[in-house]
Amino acid sequence: MSVQGVLDKIKENNIQFVDFRFVDLAGRAHHITLPATEVDGETFVNGVAFDGSSIHGFRGIEESDMVMMPDTESVFVDPFTDHPTLNIMCNIHTPDGERYDRDPRSIAQKAEEYLQTSGVGTTAFFAPESEFFIFDDVRYESSMNTSFFSVDSEEAAWNTGRKEEGGNLGFKIGVKGGYVPVAPVDSQQDIRSEMCRLMQEAGLRIERHHHEVATAGQAEINFRFDTLTKTADNLMLYKYIVHNTARQYGKVATFMPKPLFGDNGSGMHVHQSIFNGDSPLFFEKDGYANLSQMALHYIGGILHHAPALIALTNPSTNSFKRLVPGYEAPVNLVFSKGNRSAAVRIPVAAVTPKGCRIEFRTPDSTANPYLSFAAMLLAGLDGIQRKIDPTALGYGPYDKNIYELSDAEKQEIRSVPGTLDEALDALEADSEFLTESGVFSQDFIDNYVAFKRTEAKAVAIRVHPHEYSLYFDC
Ligand code: GLU
Ligand code: MG
Ligand code: MG
Repeated sequence: MSVQGVLDKIKENNIQFVDFRFVDLAGRAHHITLPATEVDGETFVNGVAFDGSSIHGFRGIEESDMVMMPDTESVFVDPFTDHPTLNIMCNIHTPDGERYDRDPRSIAQKAEEYLQTSGVGTTAFFAPESEFFIFDDVRYESSMNTSFFSVDSEEAAWNTGRKEEGGNLGFKIGVKGGYVPVAPVDSQQDIRSEMCRLMQEAGLRIERHHHEVATAGQAEINFRFDTLTKTADNLMLYKYIVHNTARQYGKVATFMPKPLFGDNGSGMHVHQSIFNGDSPLFFEKDGYANLSQMALHYIGGILHHAPALIALTNPSTNSFKRLVPGYEAPVNLVFSKGNRSAAVRIPVAAVTPKGCRIEFRTPDSTANPYLSFAAMLLAGLDGIQRKIDPTALGYGPYDKNIYELSDAEKQEIRSVPGTLDEALDALEADSEFLTESGVFSQDFIDNYVAFKRTEAKAVAIRVHPHEYSLYFDC
């Protein structure tokens, strides 16, 4: 959309306020609102100033002046405000007009620009499947309940975030029992449908929604694939609508990867492919799972760099509580067609040449979408450029359930890092694939690692409720 197009939209929709948004290092959106009467063509040239020193992970106090530069391609009417408000996603610039090298959205755009100069193809498509839980809004109460941390998974699930005391067990969902039952077992169809309706109105193309595998409240809504930065913008919009619709229903939604011990967690599988113009580059009729050599090399790059990549795709201490065996979350760094226990799956059902893609199943929604999509693309491109053969490196294909391999067979397979700190160690040791193209700066990596180490330490020094059952009566 042109600047004039946005100004027309403001008039046509009787917009009273314009909300300028940017995304921080952790992937959270922030906003500053201007009366529509203050917004004109100049706003799109000069941007909107804000204090970068007050945003965690951005600048120091001595260089606080930053500017939001609105992107007229990413605009939607806010469905939640009482006063008609238009939201515009922005890039972050320094006061001298440069793209700020810690701005996640600028990094995503640089990754797309790099693809175009790489000679590999013109466009990368991404589609995240971002799962989440909808709970009664009793977070504080439930987190104070020690059975939340109980080793008895049934008990944990029944006691967490939902007031299920008393009553009978009819039409209730047990641990791992939530995959697509109809109402009244699924009691959240309307709330998911309302989320979808609002997403459609805001411009997302919704493909489907359903209850997910975990006990009552786990959900997934799928929106259509798009280019890298656009998909990251779409994911920000998706999360905004999920959180605020839940709030309107008196509920709370969380994308935390493992809110319930003993039940499935929430992942964000990311489907990816590369095109040259209109031609899909990942399809080859007689290849393994109809994959081209280029797609296999892309997989090689993802799996080879996975330990470092995971510092960006699974960037929370809680991420690693999801990446354990037995809950459909991948633990092993292998690829396979169809197999959901592999880190990289190649969907084969009803796939056309243009739909041919790979699915990286490790990520979760605590990932900053701009940074994680850019990093995945760079890992895959490195695989293509260096012709990293995933089979020669022992990454598969594995077409059986990896959870059920013998111990000897499992020893051959590399696993995901076990903690956030391990992933950060891996990123420190392997960041050239992110920096050599200039997409990520070394300053960015150093700052990111320091930022995330602070989180890991903050969690590590806290006394965990389960320590009481292990050690209190020693
Ligand atoms: N919830 C699972 C995960 O943590 C994935 C379930 C599915 O295959 O959709 O990745
Ligand atoms: Mg799912
Ligand atoms: Mg999936």
